[in-house]
Amino acid sequence: MDKCSFCGRDKRDTNLLIAGISGHICDSCVEQAYAIVQEEVKKSQQFDVNTIKLLKPKEIKKFLDLYVIGQDDAKKHISVAVYNHYKRLVQATKYESADDVEIEKSNIILVGETGTGKTLLARTIAKLLHVPFTIVDATVLTEAGYVGEDIESILTRLLQVADYNVEAAEKGIVFIDEIDKIARKGDNPSITRDVSGEGVQQGLLKLLEGSVVNVPPQGGRKHPDQKMIAVDTRNILFICGGAFDGIEKKIAQRLNTKVVGYNASRQSDRIERDNLMQYIAPQDLRSYGMIPEIIGRLPVLTYLHPLDPKALRMILTEPKNSIIKQYIKLFEIDGIELTFDEKALDYIVTKAVEFKLGARGLRSICEAVMIDVMFELPSTGQNEIRITLEYAKSKIEKIKLQQLKAA
Ligand code: ADP
Repeated sequence: MDKCSFCGRDKRDTNLLIAGISGHICDSCVEQAYAIVQEEVKKSQQFDVNTIKLLKPKEIKKFLDLYVIGQDDAKKHISVAVYNHYKRLVQATKYESADDVEIEKSNIILVGETGTGKTLLARTIAKLLHVPFTIVDATVLTEAGYVGEDIESILTRLLQVADYNVEAAEKGIVFIDEIDKIARKGDNPSITRDVSGEGVQQGLLKLLEGSVVNVPPQGGRKHPDQKMIAVDTRNILFICGGAFDGIEKKIAQRLNTKVVGYNASRQSDRIERDNLMQYIAPQDLRSYGMIPEIIGRLPVLTYLHPLDPKALRMILTEPKNSIIKQYIKLFEIDGIELTFDEKALDYIVTKAVEFKLGARGLRSICEAVMIDVMFELPSTGQNEIRITLEYAKSKIEKIKLQQLKAA
């Protein structure tokens, strides 16, 4: 009786046994072998910069436009930075000895209120990239010896994403969120956390500048017996994001004007804030408490606009995976056609503005409007549903703001 030369199964135990010159292989071993080949090929190509089709900055921005509303200035800076990052990587592998010009990396810092799309921009860019990418939160970082995570844990995440392929991780991109939380503060009441924030900044500096860092492979605290992995950060691109609450005042001081609008209507307050942010300069970050060395290592400084009602309305329906498109899709799977009246959508935006929940609030308000139909409809056999202004109002008026905030 013929047998599979790989797993040893008898012919009668297989669906198909293929004969070779000096052996046989059964159908399930063929399938397994195919899966292994696919996996290995994918792994070897995943982070290979030489196989990347280099998108031009304009094409990168076009891609960002599909998912992120507005924020043109930030998009432009990110597109160029990512494009140049790729070019540097290609230069490093292909043209190493051609001449002495070494392109230096340009880490980016994004400043903008919370919920204006900083993380979204970073996540969207990650979809495009063929280099390892990770998002880390600066709030958990502390100086060695305090409660929290060591700075090196940033690189642990990158290593994990790269499947511990050190060479790939060394070309990756790291998004550090809430960078403003490590600004130097005089009045930080915590005794468990690095009090001034300055130690963390010093630690971060080491990574931003480019140096060989010993990284604990499992993250968390460094442990004397743990084997470290050496990672060179010279080619890692860092994108930092932060709200820098109140930085408008620093900008205003520098511009020698005052923030008007404390007593004026909210509308004019917002316009003023918006206007000031576009004048942001490195020295404002310094007055905010970032050390000059860090600022120097984040040469691309750009800002995000606060979202006005018009932008919020667009966010609801325009992006490729907008909230409303997601609900329509959810119902479509059940064979139900879901439509929204314009006025209902406008109402949702008005509520988001009123509750000061920004873009993040859009989802919780939509959820409050949709929960009952999502619960009831699949059992009724109904095949269409229209969300009217009256319906949306009746749902929102029932719930309390507190609930929305908690969502
Ligand atoms: P942050 O600036 O605090 O990082 P996020 O990027 O996390 O804000 O935004 C929160 C959510 O709000 C996003 O997941 C997205 O749904 C929505 N959002 C915020 N800004 C935009 C924008 N400019 N375009 C589209 N959606 C946005």
